[in-house]
Amino acid sequence: MQLRLQEKVMDRRDILALYKWAVADCFRCAEIDTETTPLAEITPPSGHRYEVRVCERCLLDLEDEKRRHAERVGCEYEPGHLGQCER
Ligand SMILES: [Zn+2]
Repeated sequence: MQLRLQEKVMDRRDILALYKWAVADCFRCAEIDTETTPLAEITPPSGHRYEVRVCERCLLDLEDEKRRHAERVGCEYEPGHLGQCER
């Protein structure tokens, strides 16, 4: 049990290491001035580019969702590609 928990923590740190982080606001939980990573870029017709960023906690939530989805549909789960096209 202890070992399993340890593995899980390492996993999460490994996943976080796959993304680039900078202090900004999280669009998902609305936390401000926290470590965030860009998920997507939106360029509205006005041309003012906007980055959709999420904090570490939300990123891990989304990675969890992706992993569960991959298990359901029988795909191989690959962390680190959130925001990119999925099959
Ligand atoms: Zn968040």
